[in-house]
Amino acid sequence: MLSISTIKTYMFCPLKLYFQSEIDEIYDEEEYFVPKTLKDLRIDIQDLLHKNLRLVKKDMELKEIEETLSKGVFNQIETTFEIIEELNETKKEKERREKSSIYKDSNIEFLDEDRQILNASLEDNDGTLEDLDNEEDEIKKLKDEIIDEVNLNLKILSLKASQAMKNLEKDGNEIQNLFFQSSMYNTLIRDLGIDLIGVIDKIEVEKGKYFPILLKTSNPPSKGVWQSDEIELIANALLVEGEFNTYITVGFVEYLKIGERRPIVIDTFARKKFFKLLTKINKIVEDGEIPHVKTSVKKCRNCEYRELCEKA
Ligand code: SF4
Repeated sequence: MLSISTIKTYMFCPLKLYFQSEIDEIYDEEEYFVPKTLKDLRIDIQDLLHKNLRLVKKDMELKEIEETLSKGVFNQIETTFEIIEELNETKKEKERREKSSIYKDSNIEFLDEDRQILNASLEDNDGTLEDLDNEEDEIKKLKDEIIDEVNLNLKILSLKASQAMKNLEKDGNEIQNLFFQSSMYNTLIRDLGIDLIGVIDKIEVEKGKYFPILLKTSNPPSKGVWQSDEIELIANALLVEGEFNTYITVGFVEYLKIGERRPIVIDTFARKKFFKLLTKINKIVEDGEIPHVKTSVKKCRNCEYRELCEKA
């Protein structure tokens, strides 16, 4: 059964998918821990904002609205980053332990050749620790980015809520549906018919209609959505259709950094495009067909298979 993450890898680079399915089938959970945790954090923040909006009153000043909306939000960010930092520390500690065990072993008599191997190994370890220090800086940067993003979104939501409450003469609990639909988050769906499995970030339900929402933390294109996001959303829509026995005509990609949601029409053309792509993916995953791709500095810079591609 194909998963949505397989489709995402294919959209990033078909050759990467080939290497993944042919060389290492081990899913490295650690590698995905930070992006997954940050995505969950953003979903939790949305939830908190939704809850806090119910506490906002129409006679509140803008500042008070913003303070009410932000209750618990920054604590949530702190807690999440403490967990991420802790994981990084644990990784560092593990590397240090491995390094010191090599030093301990070095008390025994080494032949020159062995000594060279030992030195090379120690140099490698230094590199890994340096990587983890860089990761620490990266984590701090990510935290600052999220705090800026949340502050901006808080200001926007406070303004919009204040306007809506004034115009409609209602409190926050009466206007919450204008900003937050009734939703399901992180829903795992498996569809035996199309042989696909995936976790849907968010499904909104309004007047019996279902809308799959793809939450993206990446920068958006200047208009529309990235092609990879479009394909992922179509996959989400097909899974939601099967699960809830419904027909979806539109879904949304929500770019969280700018707080903007962009629509994708799920028409016959989109469906055909998706199934054509599934056929290509199956050729790689099931038949082991090697895809031809162009390398690019931006795409390949952080790819774990770069050495393999450079040798080819
Ligand atoms: S190095 Fe580039 S071309 Fe090679 S698998 Fe990775 S992303 Fe694809």
